[in-house]
Amino acid sequence: MSTTYNTLVTSDVDLQPYNTLQVAAKASHFAAIESIDQLQEILQHSQADGQPLLVLGGGSNILFADDFDGLVLHVEIMGKEILKETDDHVWLKIGAGENWHQTVRYCVEQGWGGIENLSLIPGTVGAAPIQNIGAYGVELAQVFEWLEAAHIESGEAHRFDKEDCRFGYRDSIFKNELKGQYLVTQVVLKLSKDPQLNTSYGAIQSELEKRGISEPTIRDISDIVIDIRNSKLPNPDTLGNAGSFFKNPVVKNKVFERIKAAYPGAPGYSMGDEETKIPAGWLIEEAGWKGKIVGNAGTYKQQALVIVNHGGATGKEILALANKIRTSVADTFGIELVPEVNIIG
Ligand SMILES: Cc1cc2nc3c(=O)[nH]c(=O)nc-3n(C[C@H](O)[C@H](O)[C@H](O)COP(=O)(O)OP(=O)(O)OC[C@H]3O[C@@H](n4cnc5c(N)ncnc54)[C@H](O)[C@@H]3O)c2cc1C
Repeated sequence: MSTTYNTLVTSDVDLQPYNTLQVAAKASHFAAIESIDQLQEILQHSQADGQPLLVLGGGSNILFADDFDGLVLHVEIMGKEILKETDDHVWLKIGAGENWHQTVRYCVEQGWGGIENLSLIPGTVGAAPIQNIGAYGVELAQVFEWLEAAHIESGEAHRFDKEDCRFGYRDSIFKNELKGQYLVTQVVLKLSKDPQLNTSYGAIQSELEKRGISEPTIRDISDIVIDIRNSKLPNPDTLGNAGSFFKNPVVKNKVFERIKAAYPGAPGYSMGDEETKIPAGWLIEEAGWKGKIVGNAGTYKQQALVIVNHGGATGKEILALANKIRTSVADTFGIELVPEVNIIG
């Protein structure tokens, strides 16, 4: 192996500091990727020894259910560059290793709108397209232009336009057909200098009224979203978690009507003529799991959709709890919950 490879790759690395669920797990090999050249150098050798590869960003949407016997590629590609600017818009190219929330705040400072509702989502810019991050009525897809990614077997660079990414609700081609095949290196967003602010979300509206703000700025929305999130969600620095553990299920209207007949207070959001989205947190809470503690793991006392590590929970313990919750919701409502968190091992 080359000297460069040996200086870039370390062995037997503790992954606990690299995942927000704070699960103890080991990676047999680990490398920080700061450029595509470094990646290509590493790939040449890792292909030779055939070990599995895992791309890792901020570790805020991942559960290490076991040790990872392979090479973790920790994305640390940094930088921001304005590709193009008009009177109305800015096309910003961002390194995949940049922190998402800091990027949002940078754009807020510049007066560039479009991602302020996505303030305080943990993780990296490169992971944002993987599940098309979304919150408070906005999804990444709305501002996304294209991304650059390296094929993790050949190291070859590819460009993916918006249509190529097949964005859906917490979904993209990178969670399906191309799962685990590409490392996103750069993301390009189109931001607006005169944005249409999205204040449709009830909690944002009531906060604006409470603060007496009738003409909100981008910064007002970002500040409000930060405050709402801080009041609702556990801070992963103090209580290990990966945000929503499951996706909100989208069911046929007749399934929702059946649930509504048994539970008149059941919440549901129409998704066109035929389907309804049901908050997974409500299903889990109704099935009796809100705030429950099982061993060292549990669900968050204010939001049953968030699985938390009360300290020392293993990945297996958290996975076992998630499976119990899934079975319980399936038995109670006949609905299969699908994890939003990426389970490794
Ligand atoms: C408290 C909390 C709140 C959250 N709230 C939200 C929310 O409101 N909305 C939302 O959508 N999500 C939310 N999340 C989930 C999470 O923050 C996002 O999914 C985020 O985009 C994950 O980024 P990451 O860098 O931590 O990814 P990781 O957890 O490191 O990785 C996630 C997946 O993406 C892959 N991946 C990571 N980086 C790359 C890359 N550069 N190229 C290719 N693949 C890559 C990994 O292999 C893995 O499969 C929340 C999480 C927490 C802990």
